[in-house]
Amino acid sequence: MTLSATNTPQTTDTFTKPCQWSGLIETYRSYLPVTASTPVVTLLEGNTPLIPTPALSEAVGKGVKVLVKYDGLNPTGSFKDRGMTLAISKAKEAGAKAVICASTGNTSASAAAYATRGDMQAFVLIPDGYVALGKLAQALVYGAQVLAIEGNFDDCLRIVQELAANYPVTLVNSVNPYRLEGQKTGAFEIVDNLGNAPDWLCIPVGNAGNITAYWMGFCQYHQHGKCDRLPRMMGFQAAGASPLILGEPVAHPETIATAIRIGNPASWEKAVAVKDASQGQFNSVTDEEILAAYRLLASKEGIFCEPASAASVAGLLKVKDQVPTGATVVCVLTGNGLKDPDTAIQHCNNQLQRGIEPTTTAVAEVMGFSST
Ligand SMILES: *Cc1c(COP(=O)(O)O)cnc(C)c1O
Repeated sequence: MTLSATNTPQTTDTFTKPCQWSGLIETYRSYLPVTASTPVVTLLEGNTPLIPTPALSEAVGKGVKVLVKYDGLNPTGSFKDRGMTLAISKAKEAGAKAVICASTGNTSASAAAYATRGDMQAFVLIPDGYVALGKLAQALVYGAQVLAIEGNFDDCLRIVQELAANYPVTLVNSVNPYRLEGQKTGAFEIVDNLGNAPDWLCIPVGNAGNITAYWMGFCQYHQHGKCDRLPRMMGFQAAGASPLILGEPVAHPETIATAIRIGNPASWEKAVAVKDASQGQFNSVTDEEILAAYRLLASKEGIFCEPASAASVAGLLKVKDQVPTGATVVCVLTGNGLKDPDTAIQHCNNQLQRGIEPTTTAVAEVMGFSST
């Protein structure tokens, strides 16, 4: 038997040339503060899909096209990896042996993974009892030293800033400027995919680093002629943790969306500047609205994000009357739904039917098929 020509590889090149994405530092090197001697610590993050969401587009109406930037598909399941690859690479370049962060969960998972990858120790401070299970599991299994504080995220951030100022540990929260530099690549990818900037960018806001980073990315690409417009930046906070909407810190932030359960955002002034420069807005969404958007994304679009991420979609639906006809809107889905299985099971378990007898007849009956 002979192999047909079409089954035979044309050249061995097919197998030897690098055909995979090389991570965001390599891809966007000329836009990032790295040099040839920066050790690149990467898990090949970035290059996440920009997915059209027809059910959402229809819900908004007016010929508006809605897409989601599903950053939950990064190596540790959140956009934090974009900032962490750069922050950890720069920490390594500077000779750091240990890094520290405060976290509502995703930063700790990401810091733990990238620190391990870069052969450094990670210390993470988390608010005890307010970190989703998947995130805690990640930080532990990647080998971080996890310190649960009897306080909230804002307490954790204050402490790690003081520790980093006084001890030989590098701070990798988003107050570290390399975090934002890495995170701005999310905007680059959106423009690379769409061929231009969207009309609106809807994004959840907690510590307000990501909204700042996305705007940096859009502006930098605009300066380089990669897009000829800039989006309105629409930031959404959870109603129980909405200092930017209230105009003052919230002492006891509360929301089911633990990733944005923050009362005193570190990038407050920057985020306000972004809103003003982009003619954007800040709005709040209730936990009910967040959960409705969370369920809609999963059950109508097949996209499972974590509750905080759904704030961008809940927000869009809340202010949809303001979206211009025919606009292109991108909602950033910051984290993966698998991070927080408790919320999924607690709030979406009405389809779960238990106690079924182990016979085909019984199962068929429950499924609604009549017996023959
Ligand atoms: C960190 C995080 C946010 C908030 O981003 P900020 O930069 O703190 O505003 C939102 N969603 C998820 C899933 C996150 O992990």
